[in-house]
Amino acid sequence: MRSEFQRDRDRIIHSTAFRRLEYKTQVFVNHEGDLFRTRLTHTLEVAQIARAVARALRANEDLAEAIALAHDLGHTPFGHAGQEALDECMREHGGFEHNLQSLRIVDHLEQRYGAFDGLNLMFETRAGILKRCKPSIAHTLGELGRRFLENRRPSLEAQICNLADEIAYNNHDVDDGLRSGLITLEELESVSLFARHCAAARREFPRLAGRRLIHETVRRMIDALVTDLLEETRRRLAQTGVSSPLEVELAPPLVGFSAEMDEDNRALKQFLHERLYRHYRVVRMTNKAKAIVRDLFAAFYADARLLPPEHRERGQESGMARAIADYIAGMTDRYAIKEHRRLFAVGED
Ligand code: MG
Repeated sequence: MRSEFQRDRDRIIHSTAFRRLEYKTQVFVNHEGDLFRTRLTHTLEVAQIARAVARALRANEDLAEAIALAHDLGHTPFGHAGQEALDECMREHGGFEHNLQSLRIVDHLEQRYGAFDGLNLMFETRAGILKRCKPSIAHTLGELGRRFLENRRPSLEAQICNLADEIAYNNHDVDDGLRSGLITLEELESVSLFARHCAAARREFPRLAGRRLIHETVRRMIDALVTDLLEETRRRLAQTGVSSPLEVELAPPLVGFSAEMDEDNRALKQFLHERLYRHYRVVRMTNKAKAIVRDLFAAFYADARLLPPEHRERGQESGMARAIADYIAGMTDRYAIKEHRRLFAVGED
C-alpha cells in the first residue's frame, strides 16, 4: 500500500527518538512554558513547509517529508548548547555532531525490528539526513559519504528540507522571541522583512494588534519566503535543465531564494543572532545546560558503573565514550536535568 519513502516516514514517526523530540528544545528550555516550540513542533513545521514546496515543484513529496521528520533526531538536550558541550567532551573520541547522530540513530541505535538494527531506511532518505560531513568521516561511510568527497550537492528533496528548516526556525523564533518578551515588536521593525509585512498587515486590518498582529505578520513572512523560494527554484531548474537526480547533484544549488530575499532573510537571521540567541537570559540558560552535559559526561567517563547496564554494555562494542555520548544525546531536557540531580544531589535517587 505504501511507497518506500512513505514506509520510511512511518518508521521514523514510530521511533523512540522521534517521540523524544517533544521534550527537547532549541532556544528555550522545555520547562519554560507550554507555548514555545519544541523540536517536535519545529519538526512538524519543517515537514509541512517541505511537503508544500516538494509538491509544488513536483519533487518527491514523501521523500521530502521523511527527511524533514528525521532531520533533528540526533539533537542533544538543550539544543546547540548541549551539542557544543558534548562535542567538547568528545574531542578526544571523534567528536559529536547532531547531524551524524541523526544518521546513527536511524542506522543503528533504534532497536525495534527483529531483522535489523536501526530503521533500515532507503539510501535517499539516509543521504538526505546527512547534511554535512567532514572528509575524514565521509571516508568511513562508503557510498553515503561519496558525495562529500566528490563535492556533489544534496538531492532536490534534501535541499528543500534545508530551506524549509531555515524558514521554519527563523519565523518561529520571531514568534517565540516576542512571546517570551526577550525581543520586542519595536526592535523587530528594524528588520525589513518583518517591517514590510507588519505594515501590510496593519494596512489591511487597521485595528489588528498584539499577538494577532504578530501571527498575521509571521504568516505573511512565511508565505513570502516560500513563494520566493518556489519562483527562484523554478527559474534555476529551467535554466540548468536538470533531468535526473545525478544532474541535480552535479548542478549548482538549485533550491534557494532570490538575491533580494536572500538579503532580507540574512538580515532577519542576523537580528535573531544578536538580539535573541545572545540575550543574557538565553546565555544564562545555555551556560547551565552546558554545565549539565559536561558534568554528566565527566561522571560517566570517570566511572562507567554509573551508567544504566544497557548503555554500559553498548560501551563494550562502540567504546565507552561513544556509548556515553549516545546516552546523553538521547536524553530529553528534563531527563538530563533529573539525571544530573540523581548523580550529584545528596538525597536524590
Ligand atoms: Mg531543524
